[in-house]
Amino acid sequence: MFDVRSYRKAASVGQALTLLAADPEARPMAGGTNALFKLRRGSEAFRSLVDIAGLPELPGIALDPDGGLRIGAGVTFRELAASPLVAEKARCLAEAALAMGGPQLRARATLGGNLCGGGHCAACRRCRYPRCPAAMVGADGPAPLLALDARAEIAGRAGKRLVPLGQFWTAPSRTAVARDELLLGVVIPAASLGAPGSGYVKYAMRAAMDTATFGCAALCRLDGGRIAGLRLACVMAGPTPRRLPKAEAVAPGRLPDAATFAAMAAAAAGEAAPRADWQGDVDFRLHIIRRQIEALLAAVARRAEDA
Ligand SMILES: Cc1cc2nc3c(=O)[nH]c(=O)nc-3n(C[C@H](O)[C@H](O)[C@H](O)COP(=O)(O)OP(=O)(O)OC[C@H]3O[C@@H](n4cnc5c(N)ncnc54)[C@H](O)[C@@H]3O)c2cc1C
Repeated sequence: MFDVRSYRKAASVGQALTLLAADPEARPMAGGTNALFKLRRGSEAFRSLVDIAGLPELPGIALDPDGGLRIGAGVTFRELAASPLVAEKARCLAEAALAMGGPQLRARATLGGNLCGGGHCAACRRCRYPRCPAAMVGADGPAPLLALDARAEIAGRAGKRLVPLGQFWTAPSRTAVARDELLLGVVIPAASLGAPGSGYVKYAMRAAMDTATFGCAALCRLDGGRIAGLRLACVMAGPTPRRLPKAEAVAPGRLPDAATFAAMAAAAAGEAAPRADWQGDVDFRLHIIRRQIEALLAAVARRAEDA
């Protein structure tokens, strides 16, 4: 049984914002794959729902006039994974979209829901929190978008604002989107698009339908056979999705070889702060972080060399 106290279907973003403002208990629901999961497990957080699925302002993947890529919050993971534009311009995001869940989940789950409350906390297996937080743990969307330097477009009743994704996850289970606001979409700047050295790696306990034990995206640019720039972003190496600046700082000017990748992976493990939970203890997670990052860096450097 779903213990729903109220359900309202919004016809526009404006109406959804009005409904959210009118009821302090109300929460938006997009695909519902996370919200209904938590409700089913006894969470009180989603008893008052404002359904935003299918709002005309939220879909769409398109280049904007200055060459950036805009992806609506209502875009599903199936649409992301199938988009030729995403595959060509943001390969790490296309790979993350395909790594997410399974076909049924991807058909329903939206990017907005993933960034605002995707994944589920480790406690979800036995979750009886009186007010389940909209946990932002182990989701596949954040790392590639962080590596791509994307900004979130957020709408409130006072208007719209853009927030760099580096400032989007403010604390565990908290985002820059206030309870009575909506994420409209993300914008990836033109300068981040089309890098051939782009990729995503996910380590999970199961091959499908599982949130990441560790997920990492990388963007690598070579110049004259040396690394000119490298961005690394991940989930599950700390309480919120994050870039790994100390590991990134190792790369510039170095050869894209095993020694560089090992040094970067060691720096990443040094700045990571993974937690211990049912998926693994801290040592196991640090081992996974090192190995996955080394493998990812080798793959993206090869792609950059082959381009
Ligand atoms: C069995 C199972 C496997 C899963 N596997 C994965 C996986 O492999 N990878 C992964 O990343 N996730 C996984 N998930 C988690 C989840 O399905 C996804 O993260 C999904 O993208 C959530 O999107 P949704 O549209 O269904 O969000 P919803 O459930 O509708 O909403 C989730 C949260 O986001 C908020 N929200 C939604 N849209 C907006 C918006 N536009 N503005 C503001 N707030 C908003 C809601 O209020 C809620 O707090 C899994 C879930 C299950 C049940």
